[in-house]
Amino acid sequence: MLNFELSDDQKQWRDKARDFARTAILPVAWHYDHKDETPMQILDAAYQAGLVNTDIPKAYGGLGLGLLESVLLTEELAAACAGLATSIFDNSLGMEPLILCDNEGLKQRIFPEMLDQGKRICFATSEPTMGSDVAGMRCLATPDGEDYLLNGTKYWITNGGIADYASVFATIDPKSRHEGICAFVVPLDQPGVTRGRPIPKLGQRCSNTVGLHFKDVRVPKENLLAEPGKGFVLAMKTFARTRPTIGAFGVGAARTAMELALDYLNKRRTFGMPLSGYQALQFKIAEMYQKIETSRLLCWKAAWEADRGQDPTIDASISKFYATEAALEVVDEALQICGGYGYTQMFPVEKLWRDTRLLRIYEGTSEIQRIIVAGHLLNNYTPVMPSLEDLPVHLERDPADLAPGEQAWRCRICGHVHYGSEAPDECPYCFFPQSAFKAVTA
Ligand SMILES: Cc1cc2nc3c(=O)[nH]c(=O)nc-3n(C[C@H](O)[C@H](O)[C@H](O)COP(=O)(O)OP(=O)(O)OC[C@H]3O[C@@H](n4cnc5c(N)ncnc54)[C@H](O)[C@@H]3O)c2cc1C
Repeated sequence: MLNFELSDDQKQWRDKARDFARTAILPVAWHYDHKDETPMQILDAAYQAGLVNTDIPKAYGGLGLGLLESVLLTEELAAACAGLATSIFDNSLGMEPLILCDNEGLKQRIFPEMLDQGKRICFATSEPTMGSDVAGMRCLATPDGEDYLLNGTKYWITNGGIADYASVFATIDPKSRHEGICAFVVPLDQPGVTRGRPIPKLGQRCSNTVGLHFKDVRVPKENLLAEPGKGFVLAMKTFARTRPTIGAFGVGAARTAMELALDYLNKRRTFGMPLSGYQALQFKIAEMYQKIETSRLLCWKAAWEADRGQDPTIDASISKFYATEAALEVVDEALQICGGYGYTQMFPVEKLWRDTRLLRIYEGTSEIQRIIVAGHLLNNYTPVMPSLEDLPVHLERDPADLAPGEQAWRCRICGHVHYGSEAPDECPYCFFPQSAFKAVTA
C-alpha cells in the first residue's frame, strides 16, 4: 500500500534539521552571504548536531539513513540557506562513490575518519573545460608502479577549499572518453595539490567553491574507487542518488519564498485593501504551493525508489529538473509580490533568488536532465497503447456492425479507414497504394 506518512524517526530528523536551520543557520546566513564567506563554525555545528554523514552505512559505524531522510533534512536546511545547505550536504555527495564502490579497505579507513573526526570529502568531476560532458574530462591518471600520478585541474569544486579528501574522477587517456575514466579518494593535504581561490559567485556565497590543481600527485591503488573504464558509470550512479536531494534544495528555498510572500501579502495594502484580497495574487500563491507540493512528492518518490534498491535514474532526473525549475519560478513570483522591496538587499528574497538560480546548473544542468529523460523515452519506454498504425480508429462504423468477411483497413500514411473485405487499390486521400493499408480489426 502506498503511504505518504513519515515515520516518527523521520519526523524527528526533519524537526531536528528544522530547529538547526532556524536557530543556527538563519541568524548568520545573510551576513556571510554578504561577506562571500563560508562560516566554518556552522559546518562544524552541523557535524556536532549529527546532521552530516547520516548516510554512512551501519556496517562502518554510521547511521545508514536513507535518501528519503537526506531529502527531508536538506529541505529544512535549504529553507534557511541553500548555500550553507550545499556545503553541509557536500559530504554526502563526496562519499557517495565510496558507498557505491567495492573497495572495502578504503571504506574501513575513510568512513571512521568522517564519523569520528569530522573529516570532509568533496566530489570532483568537473573541469575548467568540461562539466556536462563528463566523458570529456582531461585530468590525467597515469599508472606508475603500484600508484597513479594525477595531473590536471578540477573546477567548481564545492568545499574544495576546506575538505580533507576529494573523490576525484580522472582519465588514463582523454581520447578514450568513457572507457578511460577512473576514480580515487585523494587526500588534499599532500604535495602537488593546490587549492584555488574561492570562485566569486552570484549566489550560494556561503558555500565554498574552488578549483583543485594536481601536479604529479601520487595516489596509491588502495585509494581506487573505480578502475579505468568503470569511473563514468560510478559518477552517473552517484548523480542518480544525489539529484533528488538537489530537488529538495529547491523545495526548501521555494517554501521559504512562499512564506515570505504570504507574510507580505497579508501586511501590505494597496487601493484600500490588503494585497491578500486580490484574486490575481491569490492565484500566484496557490500556484506557488502547488509547485512546492508537486516538487516534494517527486523528490520523495525518487528517494523512495533508491531506498528500495531500485534504479532511481529517471525519477531522480525528473525530480531534479522539475523541482529546481519550479523553485526558481516560485522565488521569482515571491520577489514580484514583494514589489520594489523584493529587489533590494534589505529584503530576503533576492538572496533566495540568487541561491536558487544555481540549482538548475550543478549536478547536471536542466538540459542534461532532459537529455536523460528523453533518452529513456526514446529507447526504453514501453507504451501501453498500440502504435499509431495499429490503432483501431473507427469513425464511421461500429466494429460490431461489420458484415462477415468485412474488415477495417487503416492507411498507415494518412489514417483513412476503409471498410471491406480487401484494402482499396489506392487511398482516396493520400493516393498511396494498397500496400499502405493495414487491417485493424480481426
Ligand atoms: C557553484 C557551483 C558548484 C559546483 N560544485 C561542483 C562540485 O562540487 N563538483 C563538480 O564536479 N562539479 C561542480 N559544479 C560543476 C557543475 O556540475 C557544472 O557547472 C555543470 O555540470 C555544467 O557544466 P559546465 O558549467 O561546464 O557547462 P557546459 O557543460 O559547458 O554547458 C553549458 C550550457 O550548455 C548546455 N549543454 C551542454 N551540453 C548540451 C547538450 N548536449 N544539449 C543541450 N544543452 C547542452 C548546458 O546545459 C549549459 O546550459 C559546480 C558548479 C557550480 C556553478
